[in-house]
Amino acid sequence: MKIISINAGSSSLKFSLFDMSNESVIASGLFERIGIEGSCYTIKYNGEKLEQEVELVDHSDAVRILLEKLIDLNIISSLDEIDGVGHRLVHGKDKYSSSVVITDEVIEDLEKFKDFAPLHNPANVLGIRAFQEVLPNIFMVGVFDTAFHQTMDEVTYLYPVPYSWYKDYGVRKYGFHGTSHRYIASTVAKLLNKNEFRLISCHIGNGGSITAIRDGKCVDTSMGLTPLAGIMMGTRSGDIDPSIITYVMEKEGKNASEVIDDLNKRSGLLGLSEYSHDMRDILEHIDEGDEKALLARDKYVRSIVNYIAQYYLLLGGVDAIVFTAGVGENSIPIRKLVCEKLLPLGVKIDLDKNNIRGEITKISTEDSKVAVYVIPTDEELMIARDTLSKLENR
Ligand code: ADP
Repeated sequence: MKIISINAGSSSLKFSLFDMSNESVIASGLFERIGIEGSCYTIKYNGEKLEQEVELVDHSDAVRILLEKLIDLNIISSLDEIDGVGHRLVHGKDKYSSSVVITDEVIEDLEKFKDFAPLHNPANVLGIRAFQEVLPNIFMVGVFDTAFHQTMDEVTYLYPVPYSWYKDYGVRKYGFHGTSHRYIASTVAKLLNKNEFRLISCHIGNGGSITAIRDGKCVDTSMGLTPLAGIMMGTRSGDIDPSIITYVMEKEGKNASEVIDDLNKRSGLLGLSEYSHDMRDILEHIDEGDEKALLARDKYVRSIVNYIAQYYLLLGGVDAIVFTAGVGENSIPIRKLVCEKLLPLGVKIDLDKNNIRGEITKISTEDSKVAVYVIPTDEELMIARDTLSKLENR
């Protein structure tokens, strides 16, 4: 069985082709600047990398070239080898609590819910339509970022605001990165060899969210109606006092969406450091004595620790904490700083074991009360697994 996982952005299309007999990646790559001058693609396969500039008018062009190249490069011998395509979809509101076979109704819903993910949902539709055009009979599955979080209860997902905002406009916590948190939960289940455990999954990349999971199900998560809420991120503020928005609107003569844009794109690590959104740059600058970079790092660590502490109580204790995504998988100092602050919870890490990047590792000591792991996330594989499971149960 061969399955393609697709992550379509407004001007990009990322793919991974899996051989599901052993869950290996046969080829992966990225089509960029679709519909913009200077469009190009990269395909990695068999230890090689093909990079080419080519005109990509729309997403269908990208899919057409992708399929042609898979055959030209002898990655597959015919399109019949592709059994299914799984799409990463962003916002399924409270209608989708698991992955679905893509139908016209799913496409209509993506469009209907676009107010909640204005950049992502329309791009997801472009990706689906492109495959429908180029491979009209292909079996397709949609995997929503929000779906995993649908197990949150009312007390968790409601905001303390006028109830009519929820009833009339769907204002509630939805949560994101669900596919990643679900992948982490399933990997921990394998590592612990059981399905009943309390887990705090810390997906900390450029965007970041922390999720409390009991027995494989989401109990609470840090992102909200949109991905702006929760922990401090690369360029996003995370949780703030909402009155800041109107105050800054008046001070700077901006409208609400301009200030929200500042909170999405010019806040977080970038906002406080006034230098970079990238944790590697921040850590380098700290070494050079930059105090704002130090402040940004400390605020970042504090916001992660606060959420872990909150979820520790919510779950009534915790069996495992996992670090994943760009910072979580790679930043040895950030993991160390976070874990040091968790000592009152009985968390202890082994500094030698923590000295790794990007591999599944248990970094806690034998006498730590909580197991701490680094687990590289793999949303693409999760999407391919869901597609396979829908194919098999068709
Ligand atoms: P996204 O949310 O865009 O998917 P990623 O999960 O790829 O982000 O994470 C990207 C971030 O990971 C970068 O902005 C950078 O801050 C961080 N990162 C990657 N490698 C390292 C590293 N070696 N040390 C510290 N941070 C790293």
